[in-house]
Amino acid sequence: MARVAVLGAGLGGVIMAYELRDILGPQHEIAVVNKGSKYSFVPSNPWVAVGWRDREAIEADLAPVFAKRDIRLHPQGAARLHPAENRIELTDGSSVDYDYLVVATGPDLAFDEIEGLGPDGHTQSICQVDHALMAKQAFDRLVKAPGPVIIGAAQGASCYGPAYEFAFVLDKALRDAKVRDRVPMTFVTAEPYVGHLGLDGVGDTKTLLESEMRQHHVKWICNAKIDRVEAGRMLISELTDDGAPKASHELPFAYSMILPAFRGVPAVRGIDGLTNPRGFILADKHQRNPTFRNVFSVGVCVAIPPVGKTAVPVGVPKTGFMIESMVTATAHNIARLVEGREPDAEATWNAVCLADFGDGGVAFVAQPQIPPRNVNWSSSGRWVHAAKIGFERYFLRKIRIGKSEPFYERLALQALGIDKLKAVKIEEEV
Ligand code: FAD
Repeated sequence: MARVAVLGAGLGGVIMAYELRDILGPQHEIAVVNKGSKYSFVPSNPWVAVGWRDREAIEADLAPVFAKRDIRLHPQGAARLHPAENRIELTDGSSVDYDYLVVATGPDLAFDEIEGLGPDGHTQSICQVDHALMAKQAFDRLVKAPGPVIIGAAQGASCYGPAYEFAFVLDKALRDAKVRDRVPMTFVTAEPYVGHLGLDGVGDTKTLLESEMRQHHVKWICNAKIDRVEAGRMLISELTDDGAPKASHELPFAYSMILPAFRGVPAVRGIDGLTNPRGFILADKHQRNPTFRNVFSVGVCVAIPPVGKTAVPVGVPKTGFMIESMVTATAHNIARLVEGREPDAEATWNAVCLADFGDGGVAFVAQPQIPPRNVNWSSSGRWVHAAKIGFERYFLRKIRIGKSEPFYERLALQALGIDKLKAVKIEEEV
């Protein structure tokens, strides 16, 4: 009998628990440690922030579905991981012991790295549903008293699609409220060019997104380093491509949403051999930590180096499909270890993303994520908005019914020529 623990029940952790339950026999124990017992679908947060969704619509109660699937939930949250002792210390002083662990703790939001940034300072966030609900209140104030808006992603951020998405969603919501004409918008980003996305562009995302920005009257500043945020004023240093100072900006704002840099969460940060200096979990091609060989990791918490050098630090995004591919590889590899064999599955780390603009959007597929690529495709149109709604409904349904991947999802992805695993092709039950 093996005891497998999953730390974190977000997009990666929940489907990790389901895939482990599918692949391991019922004699093996699966435990999930999370902060709380609710799952929240992060990709819908931009819609929450303009009132297109409420909290209930994007959350799922994990307790009943975990009970049905024989997965034990510890909702206290982890205080500290002790990988040398195969133990997770929980916040109430109790512990969860494991034989194998999957870390899926997502990001810690590094607002404190820039003075005045974040919901405790002067800018909004859409990274968590609580933040998105606060952003909605700020949106309501903006509609009542329109003024300049700044949207973007700070230096070191590794999540750009949602920043563009939110700029266009906000644009649509302000048009619907008939106040867009009184809201000048500026997009501020660490990326060296619009549409870089932390991936050095995908297909022609540069042209696509620049064109969308022009059509929606959004100005932009790239290679931007935010120095400080004060009430109603953002101070920004703009650099040239080779990192020399180019311009200083003092932008006034009535409303601002800036995605922060990410780092590893405190419960895992600073563990020698487990994490890199930013607290992200080190993983080999099998998602396995090189020092603690029974520890795997999936999702935003995984250490992935940037695709290249940029004037301002720009991280690589970890999107939903990439995370799902890490999950499938990890489930397969843990099952092999339980059987006394060595891991052999590799995630493809393909980037597949739908960025919704409220009445249109941009979609891209980068396979693999670092150029040159086999698939390097991007496209735009109204269909992306419909596809994003489909993605939300479909993903929440699979979380609520406790299934990781019904066969039609697998069929659709394989029809596009996109596989989750590199080394091992899935050839079963359909
Ligand atoms: P999360 O979903 O953040 O889950 C981490 C979990 O770990 C949380 O439940 C948290 O409570 C828990 N945790 C943290 N610390 C502890 C602790 N000490 N003890 C116990 N539990 C802990 N990707 C797409 O493919 N498409 C999109 O449209 C898209 N939109 C996005 C929009 C936004 C605003 C953001 C920020 C990201 C978006 N992403 C999108 C990227 C990515 O898919 C999401 O960030 C995704 O939620 C990451 O999954 P994760 O499991 O790594 O982390």
